[in-house]
Amino acid sequence: MYAEVHHIDRLSPDVLRVVLTGGTLDQFEGAAATDAYINARFVPAGSPVAVPFSQDDLDSVPAEFRPRPRRFTIREWEPEQQMLTIDFVAHGDAGFAGSWAQRAQPGDRLQFDGAGGSYRPSPDVDWHLFVGDESAIGAIGASLQSLEPDARAVVFAVVEQPGYEIDLPSQADVDLHWLYRAHAADSENWVAATVAETALPDGAFDVFVHGEAAEVRAVRRHLAADRGVDLSSASISPYWRRRHSDEDWRKVKRQWMTDQSQDL
Ligand SMILES: Cc1cc2nc3c(=O)[nH]c(=O)nc-3n(C[C@H](O)[C@H](O)[C@H](O)COP(=O)(O)OP(=O)(O)OC[C@H]3O[C@@H](n4cnc5c(N)ncnc54)[C@H](O)[C@@H]3O)c2cc1C
Repeated sequence: MYAEVHHIDRLSPDVLRVVLTGGTLDQFEGAAATDAYINARFVPAGSPVAVPFSQDDLDSVPAEFRPRPRRFTIREWEPEQQMLTIDFVAHGDAGFAGSWAQRAQPGDRLQFDGAGGSYRPSPDVDWHLFVGDESAIGAIGASLQSLEPDARAVVFAVVEQPGYEIDLPSQADVDLHWLYRAHAADSENWVAATVAETALPDGAFDVFVHGEAAEVRAVRRHLAADRGVDLSSASISPYWRRRHSDEDWRKVKRQWMTDQSQDL
């Protein structure tokens, strides 16, 4: 499946909203999950590969020019308008996906499969907890937008510095805490430390925590150890790892998850 860039909006200095349309989107089914994601294939700059491509087309292509798989959250799917919205972190020139979004122009094509995904805010809880960085802003934004007016949410959203906040519309009662990476004292525990020192509402809550692996792991540990969260029903996963490309991260992720499961 593939689609073409319709337009791009800058949501903050380092988050780009890419809206796709056309191509074979008429076959796209979307997903009910608010963390639904696509498996996209990013063609490296200078590659002879053109979208759409088949696996056979790639056999004769040197490895460095083959499309790289990356997962991206569906911020919004509008079937009637055939518009698919994805919010990309523009994290510099390293890698393939963020840099693709930074140089994307209307008419550029993106090939993908999907959608996967599993979280949707539970209607059976008193309130919802969200913790995430810019990579999770699409899923948190879609989740907040799905909430009913009588719902309540507490959000801890990590961005680079003041001025990098992103509009997160919702009808619900949302208590939004912006966390600034530039103010962080240490790089692995600071998000968990901020959550730990914040008074949270009483009552039953569901949990959505996604973003940088070490930050997610520390929040997971805090929620289970100090807040009594049942990890089996919480949506918690590392979306990316600092200083690791997605390829390098996938090589060590299984061991990371095993180690993480032994934290608690
Ligand atoms: C289910 C799922 C959904 C996701 N949804 C989104 C989404 O909607 N939007 C989004 O932007 N990301 C999302 N991600 C994360 C995204 O897939 C990764 O960040 C991916 O590594 C980006 O690929 P890249 O080619 O740009 O960089 P890579 O080639 O993977 O990495 C190059 C360098 O950039 C660093 N890097 C990677 N991501 C970031 C980042 N976010 N901030 C700072 N540095 C980074 C790496 O550590 C590495 O040093 C999602 C991940 C998963 C698993």
